[in-house]
Amino acid sequence: MVSHSFRMVVQGPARMASIVRRKTRSTIHEFDLIHTLQQRHSRRTPSVIRGIGDDAAVITSPVGQWTVLTTDLLTEGVHFNLQTATMTDIGFRAAAANLSDIAAMGATPHYLLVALAIPRTGTTQQALQLYRGMMAACRPHHVALIGGDTSASDGGWFLSLTLTGIVPPRKALFRSGARVGDCLYVTGTIGDSLAGLQLLNEPSPRRTALSARHRKFLIGRHLRPTARVAEGRWLSAHRFATSAIDISDGLSGDLRHICQESHVGVELDLGALPLSQACRAYAAARKLDPVDLALTGGEDYELLFTVSPRYRPRLEQAAIDRGFSLTCIGTIHPRRFGMQALSTHGTRRRLANRSYEHFT
Ligand code: ADP
Ligand code: MG
Repeated sequence: MVSHSFRMVVQGPARMASIVRRKTRSTIHEFDLIHTLQQRHSRRTPSVIRGIGDDAAVITSPVGQWTVLTTDLLTEGVHFNLQTATMTDIGFRAAAANLSDIAAMGATPHYLLVALAIPRTGTTQQALQLYRGMMAACRPHHVALIGGDTSASDGGWFLSLTLTGIVPPRKALFRSGARVGDCLYVTGTIGDSLAGLQLLNEPSPRRTALSARHRKFLIGRHLRPTARVAEGRWLSAHRFATSAIDISDGLSGDLRHICQESHVGVELDLGALPLSQACRAYAAARKLDPVDLALTGGEDYELLFTVSPRYRPRLEQAAIDRGFSLTCIGTIHPRRFGMQALSTHGTRRRLANRSYEHFT
């Protein structure tokens, strides 16, 4: 390992500010950061033979299980910005997004690796706050941090998480298994995260009729999303779901992935979409259509999945018994049907493709 000391190189008028800053905040030393991470977040478990501190991590693999792997790259300015989120929030959301990918495969999350590029102006405290957030999201699922990599960045922060999981053989949930006649379900409520993001981006809090409670709920749904890990595992263990995906890019876009991969069409019942009270109140206050928020808003991290109609009664009863919130929002049709939306007035329209895309 080459040890980097990420000290700020500051010239000209910014120099005074940097000196003050240097007194109050520590600059980053990679050895110290890794050592602190090892002390704070490296848990001893029998399945981790070597965690943080060697050239690579070594784990034991449960015999006969399938391993599920996912990775995500988050870039400052594209996926987050430090004006609207704390480092802890950013870490939490990054981990939740990865946990959600594992959940959507019906798997149990296990090990986390984190690659981090820290800007010259970044501090050790900020890096540690990022890990505090990541581990807060991971702790309920007993995910162990087993390694990573650290670099300086000449731009902003870059954060890449790699999460592994396991699933019993042939129980993984794919996007490709939806069949004609299946019911389409979604967990929780959708549209909240986009409403929360829009609230965060409003220049100054507007005094339109939106209670502090609703505001807090929506912003919380954006900054601290819940990955539906228990729901995903349950859907796969009981073989309820024929296909599944998590809603990261928006309902209409993610539903399109299921339709394309499964070679099917869908009728989406817009009147059935599960909208929170807070989302409805926000939409009313801003004269927006809450259905639009639900269709296009990404990052809700709810699960979207299909179930054979003969399992519907069992699924719905079992969900009540477990306290899981599920809503049937449509039906799978043959491919030639395309993607259609049934409005609350009973009219039909083609479902537009309006999800979030990075390269447009
Ligand atoms: P190498 O030079 O072999 O890549 P490093 O010094 O980068 O080794 O890493 C030393 C140990 O610290 C390894 O176990 C690695 O997984 C861990 N590590 C390095 N950076 C991070 C990080 N940002 N988060 C978690 N673990 C890290
Ligand atoms: Mg390294």
